[in-house]
Amino acid sequence: MTDLKTTTLSRRTMLLAAASAAPLLAISAGPARAGALPPTAVAYQPTPKDGKQCDGCNQFVAPNACKAVSGDIAPTGWCKLWVKKA
Ligand code: SF4
Repeated sequence: MTDLKTTTLSRRTMLLAAASAAPLLAISAGPARAGALPPTAVAYQPTPKDGKQCDGCNQFVAPNACKAVSGDIAPTGWCKLWVKKA
């Protein structure tokens, strides 16, 4: 036999636990930035192209991030958004 009050409390406890864990999951997801594009959308590759690479790009954030593209970005990478560092 299921106690309705216990079931409701358990469901509520689980929802509260999930809500409090969400920020931790967001933090552990890495350096993703709001509005940043996924690497596949900009043809990101972890190797240079035509002598151009991320550590020479204006969007690069050392040691391994980018203002415009989400995820880990290799200093030696490249994508279609490359802009010469100012
Ligand atoms: S080339 Fe520039 S815009 Fe593209 S991933 Fe590298 S740092 Fe970011």
